[in-house]
Amino acid sequence: MASNSWENVVGLGEEVGVGATVTAERVDARGVVRHAPCSPATFVGMTACYLAIDVGSEKLAAAIVGERAEVLVRDRVATPQRDVWAALARLAKRVLAAAPSAPVACGVGCVGPINPVERTVSPLHIPSLEGFALAAEFEAMLGLPAIVDSNAKTIAMAEAWCGAGVGLTDFVAVVMGPTVAGGVVSGGKLLEGRLGNAGNLGHIVVEADGRPCVCGGKGCLDAYAGGKAIEEETGRPPQRAPQSIIERTGIHVGRALLSLGAICDLRTAILGGPVALGFGEPLFAAIQAELDARSRLMFSSGFQLLPSGLGESGPLVGAAALARSLG
Ligand SMILES: [Zn+2]
Repeated sequence: MASNSWENVVGLGEEVGVGATVTAERVDARGVVRHAPCSPATFVGMTACYLAIDVGSEKLAAAIVGERAEVLVRDRVATPQRDVWAALARLAKRVLAAAPSAPVACGVGCVGPINPVERTVSPLHIPSLEGFALAAEFEAMLGLPAIVDSNAKTIAMAEAWCGAGVGLTDFVAVVMGPTVAGGVVSGGKLLEGRLGNAGNLGHIVVEADGRPCVCGGKGCLDAYAGGKAIEEETGRPPQRAPQSIIERTGIHVGRALLSLGAICDLRTAILGGPVALGFGEPLFAAIQAELDARSRLMFSSGFQLLPSGLGESGPLVGAAALARSLG
């Protein structure tokens, strides 16, 4: 990884306080998100914009995102214990009320698993949304076309649109937050899989017969490198994890990437999410060392690791990329 690509990422692992915020962000020619105060001039000459919704196990976020991936308005709240749909509906209405113009479509990125055929979600850590028809509910409420997908896949779409994946045809976008997830772009197309859950590398086994995982398996990457798992193990937030945990996370992520890379014939991983960007350079170095030590075949050597080009706005820009795919 070139050091300059690391230094150019804005907002690494920043924790933004929960509550209403209104900011604007712009993506420059190198795919770097730039933050700027929101002003009326931001809206002059604006083309299409999208309503972007991010449903996470710890926070819900919504934004109006423009055609150049600029975040024009955004808001967020902590994910409540119950009545998550009611909280999402209020959040979407608040953001729409501040929108400079009417969005043309709504994209929803949600923690997996999802079922894009039935257009339902069943996020693992949000039981009140189990089997919930999120896209249909947003369409009925807003009168807009809506589409839902796993937030890791939407982030892969966004990296290809305006982030570190611009111009790349084969890569995996890895999102390290409370859980670990991923989305694969292969031959320039997002890999879907049978039920739309392809790329979910959080459940690749990295320790034989290791810790139990929420999926029913043992030794999954998510059971070691997910933010929730790290917090349970250390008794403190992931951003205060000791060096030994960062190095072990690097080894585990490297192992998972090597397995995925061998299956999908890809050599580039784009890493984002608050845990990855909060751990920063030491994590990237540990992953790269594992990749370099264990990828010596012709098609697997030279594995490249890049930090996300989307900064902390990845999930919202991803949801906008999904909305944009509706054409
Ligand atoms: Zn698992």
